[in-house]
Amino acid sequence: MNIRTFHFIAIFGAIGALGGCFGAKSPTLNTQFSLENLEEKQNIMPVAVIGSGPAGLMAATYTARGGKDTFVIEGNKPGGLLMDTTDVANWPGELSIKGQEIIDHLHAQAEHQGVQFVKDAVERIDTSQWPYVIYTENGSIMYALSIIIATGASPRKLGIPGEQEYWGAGVTSCAVCDAPFYKGEEVVVFGGGDSAVEEAIQLASYAKKITILVRKDHMRAAVGMQDRLKEYPQVSIQYNVEPRKILGNGELLTGVVLYNNKTGKTSTFATSGVFLAVGHDPNSAIVKQVVKTDAHGYIHIGPGNQQTSVSGIFAAGDVADFRYRQAGTASGQGISAGLDTVRFLDEIGFTPTIASQIQSNLFGADNTQETRSETEVVLSVETMDQFKQLIDQENVVVFDFWAETCPSCKQMLPVFHAAAQEFAGKATFVTIDTDEAPDITQELFVHKIPCLLVFKDGSLVSRYTNAMSKKELSLLIQQVVEGE
Ligand code: NDP
Repeated sequence: MNIRTFHFIAIFGAIGALGGCFGAKSPTLNTQFSLENLEEKQNIMPVAVIGSGPAGLMAATYTARGGKDTFVIEGNKPGGLLMDTTDVANWPGELSIKGQEIIDHLHAQAEHQGVQFVKDAVERIDTSQWPYVIYTENGSIMYALSIIIATGASPRKLGIPGEQEYWGAGVTSCAVCDAPFYKGEEVVVFGGGDSAVEEAIQLASYAKKITILVRKDHMRAAVGMQDRLKEYPQVSIQYNVEPRKILGNGELLTGVVLYNNKTGKTSTFATSGVFLAVGHDPNSAIVKQVVKTDAHGYIHIGPGNQQTSVSGIFAAGDVADFRYRQAGTASGQGISAGLDTVRFLDEIGFTPTIASQIQSNLFGADNTQETRSETEVVLSVETMDQFKQLIDQENVVVFDFWAETCPSCKQMLPVFHAAAQEFAGKATFVTIDTDEAPDITQELFVHKIPCLLVFKDGSLVSRYTNAMSKKELSLLIQQVVEGE
């Protein structure tokens, strides 16, 4: 691209107006948004949306529909929290719909508008220059004219003794993924919000008895959600109890210590599973140094729009919304952020002519494709004999436990395949479907999926019970292969 062919029409005048529109803060605004800065740049993204939940997908649909080339950097949990949600009864226009179905529809709609999806996660954003520079976990560097942060929120942990020790060995926060491991057992759910109800209902198909433990004398879940519990006699609720400690036998969880804040008494509650539904924290760690956040990590926006404290950077959904935190409101905020972004790009003079002139400098469509080489081999085993044979014969073996019903597991599979390709010849990669291989799953104490077990010279050297990014997985295997 020869940037000198750009028509820098009235950019500076328009930018002056922009400060008024969005309350922009930068004193160097005029020079900051000079489109001359695009000169010689590759990997340009006119709109970079970070996050692929309802906020990100709707924002992307609107910017693409507004004629701006839009890229969604999906993150390590594509689709976000809705992927772990079962029935949603308050999505506009639907009596009941699965969370995953909502995401599938929004994804298809965005794709239909020409949005491109990038299978990567953002590590860092540099706003000391414009276009803003995005560094990703897979090592890409992108130049973004505008950014929409829609990174959502993650389930909160309790931070009590035993929680970390028994994470994946009885403690979890995803009933959609892990409920099948608690067939016929007695389990507890901590929390009194909508998520606690969701977890209990999901567990009701498997566990014999489910007790929801609420720290107040009432639940904060919507009345309609609480009513749904009446259909499940195996679910009961205890109020005024606070979790104090997770107990176990060194391998598996056996109970919890509870404090009754009404009687002042402490007691032990025997259980084999603890499902956490104690709220969510905004995923703002990667942007905290870049945009203003409040004491809880929620991004400051507005007033009256989705503009963050940095011009050209917008935020939408759970990462910026302490109050509503609904899939519907997140998608609505995504729409607003999309419209704000289109307006921003128009006002800095990013015209359709300029957009067409930088087409060959846009972030490569090829980078968005999953690449798999012919030589990549991922095995799968179903019997204990096959399993033992592999760990006896191979030097380093990495097992990925997954199930068809587990959305996080399915998100993990492409990462696992990519690692298999990277470490071909150095380690053997094997998937185990927990539904098809219950013996191996039980023998190896897998109670939470996705679960990665790494064996070296026949011995278990690493256990990881969460979805991993490609970078984290590569680092882990590198360390094992190099014997660190
Ligand atoms: P909420 O913040 O609504 O609820 C968290 C619950 O955990 C509260 O009952 C809180 O107690 C309790 N809690 C927090 N910390 C502790 C602790 N240390 N020990 C014991 N209990 C604790 O979070 P949710 O994740 O349930 O919901 C988040 C948002 O997502 C909400 O807006 C909700 O409406 C939405 N959502 C909607 C769904 C749907 O429509 N299908 C499904 C799931 C979520 P306290 O009340 O005392 O603060």
